[in-house]
Amino acid sequence: MSNTVSVEAFTQQAREFLERNAERKEAAKAFVWGEGSDNVAMFEERSREAEMEVLRKAKEWQAKRFDNGFGWITGPTQYGGAGLTPAHERAYNAVERDYRTPSLGVFQIGLGMVAPTILAHATDRAKDLYLRAMWRSDIVGCQLFSEPGAGSDLASLQTKAERDGDEWVITGQKVWTSGAQFSDIGEIICRTDVSLPKHKGLTGFIVDMHAPGVEIRPLRQMTGGASFNEVFFNEVRVPDDHRLGDVNNGWNVALTTLMNERASIGTMGGGETSMWTRLLAMIRHYDMDSDPIVREMLADLYINTKIQGYTGQRAMDKIRAGQTPGPEMSIGKMALVDNQKRMNDLVSHVLGAKLQADTGEWGTYAWSQLLLGAPGMRIAGGSDEVMRNIVSERVLGLPKDAGIDSKSAFKD
Ligand SMILES: Cc1cc2nc3c(=O)[nH]c(=O)nc-3n(C[C@H](O)[C@H](O)[C@H](O)COP(=O)(O)OP(=O)(O)OC[C@H]3O[C@@H](n4cnc5c(N)ncnc54)[C@H](O)[C@@H]3O)c2cc1C
Repeated sequence: MSNTVSVEAFTQQAREFLERNAERKEAAKAFVWGEGSDNVAMFEERSREAEMEVLRKAKEWQAKRFDNGFGWITGPTQYGGAGLTPAHERAYNAVERDYRTPSLGVFQIGLGMVAPTILAHATDRAKDLYLRAMWRSDIVGCQLFSEPGAGSDLASLQTKAERDGDEWVITGQKVWTSGAQFSDIGEIICRTDVSLPKHKGLTGFIVDMHAPGVEIRPLRQMTGGASFNEVFFNEVRVPDDHRLGDVNNGWNVALTTLMNERASIGTMGGGETSMWTRLLAMIRHYDMDSDPIVREMLADLYINTKIQGYTGQRAMDKIRAGQTPGPEMSIGKMALVDNQKRMNDLVSHVLGAKLQADTGEWGTYAWSQLLLGAPGMRIAGGSDEVMRNIVSERVLGLPKDAGIDSKSAFKD
């Protein structure tokens, strides 16, 4: 496919590809309370077998998109991308929405966060080895940052990497690693020099998740599922050409990943139509649409969700214009979790005790999966408090958080 193709011609090619390979969605059927699935879970609670089936379907679809030039539309041609513009990508996404295609959520971390970091910081050899394979979904990537003693204060991490000739030897423990159970590679940040201040002695690597010495243990969360893990590294060997960026420059590597993470979370949502339809149908089903408190909560949720959508759009427009978004990311993320709380309060107000005990009634207890998943979003990608610190320092000009010691050697 030519990388000078116009958006119009590309849209036509996309439509032809989708007509050949996917089923068109039927004209949207009016949602009827009590019919179809009542699943509104934030984190899908699947058995390992069901999870592997979702992964298989996602891989099959992404490989087909990739082989036809629609898998990495804006990526450089050198690494298998189509070398086109974000406008081409938006055009493809708009067409794909008319078709029934498998969810690609399992690749969110690998393609949304790890692959952009590899493109920005990896050696040419690692880019050749991994970018095409990741974007074709032959391999899946995960993010190995958090540790038991390093989450918000990521620069306190202790997993160490020691040089041994042309290799590095990694020993330590990571935690909350989403999707490690089906990942082939991970982006890991390790401590490489304890005599430097904590942000300065870190280095990033690409580690093989199937290498000897890697042990993955699932962690069960309060929703019942186990979508993240503890990962132990026992003298795991990584070649030096799998290093990301310079030795002891891992903090900048981590920031590239975190910026992509906040971009993907902070610009999420903004009013998913099916969720509104479901919410309104529920309120009407329980004859609460004239209740003044319910009406006020609903209006508040609607207005704030629209504002959140516009904030996300501002950040995306900056990215598309080649600028670096500033606090919009943090504000967008805070707005997202605040709106989730507004929605949960409204659902709790309408359903009351039906949320706490499963009576078998359609569309009631199922909402507990959304409510129990929501606190995770207050923490993932930077907790509420950390986001507020960023906004107070960078927008309001308040003094820096006193807890961060950026001068003493880490070992001290
Ligand atoms: C759904 C989910 C998926 C995740 N996936 C991954 C993943 O794939 N890979 C990965 O590496 N990590 C992942 N994480 C981990 C996540 O990055 C950390 O949980 C997060 O950074 C917070 O760290 P912590 O859990 O250690 O909490 P802590 O940092 O110990 O925080 C505990 C509490 O103290 C508050 N706090 C901390 N510091 C400050 C401060 N300076 N000022 C004010 N308050 C403060 C926090 O807001 C929080 O309320 C995931 C987490 C979740 C919830």
